[in-house]
Amino acid sequence: MTINYKAKYVVSNSQTVLKDKVIQIQEGKISDVIDEKDLEKGSQIEDLGNVAIVPGFVNAHSHVGLVSVKGLGHSQASALYDVMWGIEPHLTEDDVYKLSCLGILDCLSSGTTSINDHYFFSEGVAKACLDTGIRGFIGHTVMTEYGPWTGEDQLIMAESFVKNFIKSNDLIHPVMAPHATDTTNPETILKMKNFAEDNNIPIHIHLSQTKVEFDYIKENFGVSPIKHAQEIGLLGSNLIAAHCNVVEEGDLDLLASSNTYPIFCPSTHALGGKLLDTNNLLSNNANWGIGTDCSGGNDDYDMIEETRTALLLNNSKGLETKLTPKNVFEIATKQNFEKLTLQNDIYNMESGSYADFITINLDSEKIQPIHDLINNIVLSSSSKEVKDVVINGKEVIRNYEFIDLDKEKIIYEANQVLDKLLIKSNFKERIEKGEFS
Ligand SMILES: [Zn+2]
Repeated sequence: MTINYKAKYVVSNSQTVLKDKVIQIQEGKISDVIDEKDLEKGSQIEDLGNVAIVPGFVNAHSHVGLVSVKGLGHSQASALYDVMWGIEPHLTEDDVYKLSCLGILDCLSSGTTSINDHYFFSEGVAKACLDTGIRGFIGHTVMTEYGPWTGEDQLIMAESFVKNFIKSNDLIHPVMAPHATDTTNPETILKMKNFAEDNNIPIHIHLSQTKVEFDYIKENFGVSPIKHAQEIGLLGSNLIAAHCNVVEEGDLDLLASSNTYPIFCPSTHALGGKLLDTNNLLSNNANWGIGTDCSGGNDDYDMIEETRTALLLNNSKGLETKLTPKNVFEIATKQNFEKLTLQNDIYNMESGSYADFITINLDSEKIQPIHDLINNIVLSSSSKEVKDVVINGKEVIRNYEFIDLDKEKIIYEANQVLDKLLIKSNFKERIEKGEFS
C-alpha cells in the first residue's frame, strides 16, 4: 500500500528544499517524491497542511532510561560515579523499559526519530522503542570493572541481544557497547570489536569522557585513553566514540586519521566545563556527530536544542572553522544516521530513503518570516513547531497528538518505578536533605 503525504515543503537534505510536493511511502521507505498532478487517479492524499517535511533528528548518543536522575547531576556530587551508579544497581529490566518510555516521549515530541542508546538491560530499551515506535540503535552496556553491573554474563547478554535483534525487526538496530576504556578491560573490548565486525555493526563507547578515566588509563597503560584505544586497535570508521573531551596533544589527530566518529554532546560538555574540540577536528577535515547524552548532564533529549547549541559552541571558539546552520542540520540528521548504519545515501527524503521524518509547523510565530527554511529550523524552531512524527512509514505523532501512546500512563508508571528505586537506593532521603540541589 502506498501512503501519500502532501506538504508545503519537503526538505530532502541541507541543500535541497522542494516546494508543494507529495512524498510517497511504501513499506517503511520513501518510494517517490512527486507533484500532486502526477498522482495516480483516485489516490488518497494525507494533506499535512502548511508544514515542511524534514528528515527526523538522529540522536547519536543517549541513555533514555537515565531520566531517572533528571536534575540530580548538578551539585558537587559526580553525576556519573555518585548519582547514576548510586541508583543503577537497583534497576530491573521492567524499570528500564518504563523509564526509557518516558525518555523516548521527550525524544519524539522534540523531533527525534532515531536514538543511539547505550544502557543496561538492552532488551528493556528495545521493548520501549518497539512500543513507542522510535527507531533504536541499541547497545547493551558492558563493564568489567566498577559500576553497577559487571561480569562475564554482561558480554553474553550483549552478544545474545545482537543475535536476537539483528535483521529481526525494522526498528531495532543492535550495536556493541563497551562502557568506556577504564571500566571495560581491553580483552573484552577486543572481543566486542571482533563481534561487531563479524556482524557489520558499529561499536559505541564512551571515550576520554572524564579525568578519572584519563588518569586511570595513563597510570595503567602509560598513554591517554584515545592512544590506548588506538594501540588495542579500537579506533576506526565503525567506532562511535561519545565525548572525547578530556584529551592531550595528538589525540584528536588520531580520531581524524582513523575516521573514528566522535560525538559532541554540547549541553553535557558545557555543563561539565570541558568541550569536545570540534574546531580542531574540523581543521583536520574530520567528522563528528551530535548527541544529547542524558539526565545527570544534559537534562533533556531535545535534538533541535542540541543542534543549535553545537553550532553556537563551535562558532564561539573562532570563525576559522565556522559552521553554518545547514552544516549542523546535516550532521544531526543524515550524517548521524548514515554513520550509525554504516551506509551512505539512505537518509535524504528521496526515493529509497528511510521514511523517518517530522513536520515543522510553518504557521508558528517562532519560525516566521521564512527567508531560509533550514536556517530557521536550526535557529528559530523548537519542539513547539514539531507537529507530526512519522517513523518507518508509521505515524507516531499526528497534529501534536501521540497516536498509540498513553502519555499520562507512561509518566505515571515511570514515577512509580522511581518511587521504588529512590527508596531502595537511599536517594529519597538524600534528595530530601538537599544533597543534590
Ligand atoms: Zn553517555
